[in-house]
Amino acid sequence: MTDNTVLEAKAKEIIGRYEKPKAAMLPLLWLLQEHFGYISPEGEAWVSRHLGVAITRVREVVSFYSMYRTRPASRHNIQVCTSLPCLLKGGKETLNKIKERLGAVDGVSIEEVECLCACEMAPMAQLDEQFTGPLNDQTTALLAGRAGSPQDGPFQDLDPAPHVAADGPILSLRFKNKEGTWFDEYAGQGGYSAAKKALATMKPSEVIDEVSRSNLRGLGGAGFPTGKKWSFIPKDSPKPKYLVANADEGEPGTFKDRYILERDPHALLEGMIIAAYAIQSHKAYLYIRGEYYRPAKRFNRALKEAYAHGWLGKNIQGSGFSLEVVVHRGAGAYICGEETALLSSLEGGKGLPRIKPPFPAISGLFGCPTIINNVETLACVPFIMREGAKRFSDLGSVKHGGTRLFSISGHVARPGLYEAPVTVRLTDLIHKYALGPAQGRKIKAVIPGGISTKILTAQEMGTAMDYDCLASVGIMGGSGGIIVFDETACMLAALESATRFFAHESCGQCPSCRTGTSWIHRIVKRIAAGKGRLRDLDNLLAIARDMEGKNICVFVDAAATPVQSYISKFRPEFEEHIKNGRCASKLCPMTTPTLPRVCRTGLPAGLPSPIEGEGKSEGSNAQIAQIV
Ligand code: SF4
Repeated sequence: MTDNTVLEAKAKEIIGRYEKPKAAMLPLLWLLQEHFGYISPEGEAWVSRHLGVAITRVREVVSFYSMYRTRPASRHNIQVCTSLPCLLKGGKETLNKIKERLGAVDGVSIEEVECLCACEMAPMAQLDEQFTGPLNDQTTALLAGRAGSPQDGPFQDLDPAPHVAADGPILSLRFKNKEGTWFDEYAGQGGYSAAKKALATMKPSEVIDEVSRSNLRGLGGAGFPTGKKWSFIPKDSPKPKYLVANADEGEPGTFKDRYILERDPHALLEGMIIAAYAIQSHKAYLYIRGEYYRPAKRFNRALKEAYAHGWLGKNIQGSGFSLEVVVHRGAGAYICGEETALLSSLEGGKGLPRIKPPFPAISGLFGCPTIINNVETLACVPFIMREGAKRFSDLGSVKHGGTRLFSISGHVARPGLYEAPVTVRLTDLIHKYALGPAQGRKIKAVIPGGISTKILTAQEMGTAMDYDCLASVGIMGGSGGIIVFDETACMLAALESATRFFAHESCGQCPSCRTGTSWIHRIVKRIAAGKGRLRDLDNLLAIARDMEGKNICVFVDAAATPVQSYISKFRPEFEEHIKNGRCASKLCPMTTPTLPRVCRTGLPAGLPSPIEGEGKSEGSNAQIAQIV
């Protein structure tokens, strides 16, 4: 077969997976990029013809997602993460070392990227499709050797040896299998007995009741009761219903879903079968972040096994219930973790959040009732059906049952992934599980649930980690991604990293989010460049306050949180930077200058810069004053 015939056949098969051809946009673009190394204008026209959409629609999708390339790729690509958890472990220094060694090597491209969700390996990088870390002098040399080598990958893993829970009662039982747990072993340990019980002996409403009694909450961050969410699906709707597993893990500091996908994918699949049965959905999607090459391969392998053993497809195990599962790969946009943005992306568009209501349970994918659950949430469901709601519920608090996976990174002696009851105290997670800060240092601050959550001082670590306890002290539950700062951390560096992330990831639909995140980051960068003024701190707080609650989605509230909590809790340290132009930390951006980054949105054309010394500075400051 010619190349063209192969591509045509693959395109036809891909389009056939979806209810509407346009939904095949992202996979068709991936098909071209994997085949040619990039997406050319001819490629965009090819996609436009196959999907029956205007070429401008294809172009806007290509330009929205950071992983699509419009120019030929290098032989090897190294993506170095300098997001907060890597930054704390010397990510900038690592980037500089890699640039020194490989910056001039033909065929090697080096990119600074936001969080790849492998924070247990920090500082880390991705060489082509493979995560490597932690990058010390020796492993950086090894990485450089591989990237500079004329050989193609795949390479063997550098051995990151992070601690990975393998003794939890629910989620981490099979994590010791580094190479993944496959059908025979999973079924041999009682796997799929929960799905069998649900499909053979229970009505869908009974499954929902059981999950409601278990007090399972959404573990992606929002903490909404799972059974209640499922019960919102209208039973009398003639439209098809959909289940979507959200594997777009992207919150800096979080890497739990990756372990489920890589090491226990059948637990997730079994949870999806039970959830789909409960809401009477016959089509489910797994939306997985584009950077997760290996997790996607492992999940696809489990998917094939499940079809081969009759756990997916028509009339599952003779139950009369049928289910198809499709894996849909994202392409590099943090915002697609927001459920309505995920749906926009799954339908083949840019990942733009939508105004709610209507909520997806009423009008979701293709305008039909849809439930979107996080990977970890779904992976809890087989345990609940097998062992009973009470056993699950008893492991947690009154309103939040079970255990959860905590990703711990930053300045701890044993970064890694830990399963613990949801009621575990933050201080125990840090000191007993992750063995506290290294080298006898003191803890300065902790982020308890990914960078969207408020930072806590060392004195605030006594809180229990269930959603209600966290809410009672004003903290959103978050993703379970705990980032620890010891006394050597620089809060200006941390804020620069967090604000850079949010400025980069705003989808740009709402003016106050688009311009607010961009302004905030530019002001923080100006402080880091030694040109800060004391009134900048109040300006930052005012812009953050002004952004909140006036937008399509909660991203902007998440973006305001670090600004407010870092400045209010560590104000003297920020003032010190502004007055003295430095701090003692070797991570301080005043000693290690921040490298320029490209934002997804940037400031709108024609808007004066708010940054003194950048463009029309005096006019810019007047602009800020007007806004706040
Ligand atoms: Fe996009 Fe920000 Fe508006 Fe959310 S709040 S829709 S991320 S611009």
